Amino acid sequence: MTPRVIVIGGGIAGLAAAHRLTELATEKSQSIDVRLLEASPRLGGAIGSERVGDFLVEAGPDSFISEKPWALKLCQRIGLAPRLVSTQSAYQKIYIVHDGKLVALPEGFFLLAPTRLWPFIQTPLFSWAGKLRMARELFLPRGEPTGDESLGAFVRRRFGDEALERVAQPLVGGIYASDPDRLSLSATIPRFKEMERDKRSVIYAMWAAQRERTKKAATGSGARWSLFVTLAGGMQELVDQLAERLPNGSVELNRAATGLKRNSDGTWSVAVGSAEIIDADAVIIATPAFRAGALLGAIDANGAAELKAITYASTATVSLAYRRKDFPQAPNSFGFVVPAIERRKIMACTFSSLKYPGRAPDDCILLRAFVGGSLQAELFEQNDADMEHTVRGELASLLGVSAAPLFSRIWRHPNSMPQYHVGHDARVSRIEGALKPFPTLALAGSAYHGVGISDCVRTGEAAAEKVFAHLLPTS
Ligand SMILES: Cc1cc2nc3c(=O)[nH]c(=O)nc-3n(C[C@H](O)[C@H](O)[C@H](O)COP(=O)(O)OP(=O)(O)OC[C@H]3O[C@@H](n4cnc5c(N)ncnc54)[C@H](O)[C@@H]3O)c2cc1C
Repeated sequence: MTPRVIVIGGGIAGLAAAHRLTELATEKSQSIDVRLLEASPRLGGAIGSERVGDFLVEAGPDSFISEKPWALKLCQRIGLAPRLVSTQSAYQKIYIVHDGKLVALPEGFFLLAPTRLWPFIQTPLFSWAGKLRMARELFLPRGEPTGDESLGAFVRRRFGDEALERVAQPLVGGIYASDPDRLSLSATIPRFKEMERDKRSVIYAMWAAQRERTKKAATGSGARWSLFVTLAGGMQELVDQLAERLPNGSVELNRAATGLKRNSDGTWSVAVGSAEIIDADAVIIATPAFRAGALLGAIDANGAAELKAITYASTATVSLAYRRKDFPQAPNSFGFVVPAIERRKIMACTFSSLKYPGRAPDDCILLRAFVGGSLQAELFEQNDADMEHTVRGELASLLGVSAAPLFSRIWRHPNSMPQYHVGHDARVSRIEGALKPFPTLALAGSAYHGVGISDCVRTGEAAAEKVFAHLLPTS
C-alpha cells in the first residue's frame, strides 16, 4: 500500500514539507501519496508578490536570510539558483528615526551592539552617557544564569536603556512585531546569549566573529550571497516553483481541515469542511499554532492548550510608488526603522526598489511601510483609506514626500506573527513532548523554531523527514 500523507496548510512550511516528502520518495525509489490541503484560494500564506506595471510589489516577506541555509539550499535544489538576487550593496545603510529625523545606524552596529569604534563615537543617535554605558559592556562580568530572559532585560543589563530604546527595540522587536520586554532572548536571538556565556562580553565576541569573517573573505571562502536574498520575480517564485514540482492534483485549494481524529489502527482521519473525511497514514500540520491547537483538541488536550497559548500579532504592509523627483532628497538606503519612543504610526519603512534591483523603473522609487504589530495593534484596525493616509502623513514628515503616489497596495496579515514570549522554548518542548507518542503526526511552521522563511523551510522538511522515516523505514 502506498502510504498516504496529508499536509494541512499551504504556506512555505507546508509546501516545503510536501515537497520534501516527494523528494525523499524519489531519492529512495518509494511511492508516496501526498495531499496538501490549503484553506484559502491561493498557496503561499504570508508570501505573495504582485506585478504592477514595471513594479514588483511584495505582500509579505521580501527576502530570506542566507546565513541560515535551508531556504537557500531548497532554492538551489529546485532550480531557482539562477533566480537568486542579492541586496544592492550601494544602498545597504539603515536609518533610525531619532527626534523626528532619520539618523544612519552607525557602521558596524549589529542589532544590539557596536563593533566599530569611530562611527559609534561620531553618531548623534546616542547621548555621551548612552555611549559610555554601551562601551562599559566590554568590562561587565557575565550575568548570572537565570531562566529565560527577555530581550529587553538582556539589552538593558548589558548595554543600557538607549541601546534598547533606540536600536534593539525597533530592529529586533520589529522583526517579531513584538514588545522586547516580553520577547524571549533565547527563542529569538540565542546567539547573543551564547556570546555572553562563551566570551563574557558580547562586543568582544562580535569583534572575534568579525575578524573571522574578514579572514574568510580574504581567503575567498566568504559568503557568496548578501545577508538577505530574494528571487528575481519576487518571493512568490519560491511558492510557484515548489507547487510546480508537486505531483499533479496533490494541491487542494479552498479546503480547510476542520478536525483530526486518530483511528484505532494508528491511521488518521482528517475532516475537511463540514462533511468530508479523508484517511491518511500520517499528517503534517503546517498552520498557525492556534489552528493546530484547534485540530489537536481530540488528540492531546494539554498539547492543544499549549498551542493555543502562543499568541499572534497582526501587521499590514503599505506599498507606495513614487517618482524619484517627488522626494526633496532621494532615499539612498534600504530604509528606516522607527523606535516606539518616537511615538509614530509606522514601525518601519523599506525602500524596496533600492534594497533589490528590478522592483521599480529607474525614475521611480517603491517604498513599503509596516503598520500595527503588538505595540500598535489599534493601527492595524484602520480601514484602507485611513491606513494609507496615516502612512503618507508619516512619510511626508520623515522624507518630505507629499506628492500623491503613482499607486498604493495594502496587504493585511491578521494574526500572522507568532509572539515568542519569555518561556517560548519551554512551551514548544512541552508541545513536542505531547506529540512524541505519535510519530506519524508532525507540526511545522513559524510558530515554533523561528519565524523566518528559512526556519519555516527547516521545520517543514524536518516534519517530512520524521513521518517519512516512520512510514518507509530503510532497512
Ligand atoms: C508582513 C510580513 C513580512 C515578513 N517578512 C519576512 C522577511 O522579509 N523574511 C523572512 O524570512 N520572513 C518574513 N516574514 C515571516 C514569514 O513570512 C512567515 O513566518 C512565514 O511565511 C510563515 O510561513 P508558514 O508556512 O509557517 O505560515 P503561513 O504563511 O501563515 O501559512 C499557513 C497556511 O495555512 C493555511 N491554513 C490555516 N488553517 C488551515 C486549515 N485549517 N486547513 C488548511 N489550511 C489552513 C493558511 O491559509 C496559510 O496559507 C514576514 C511575515 C510577515 C507577515
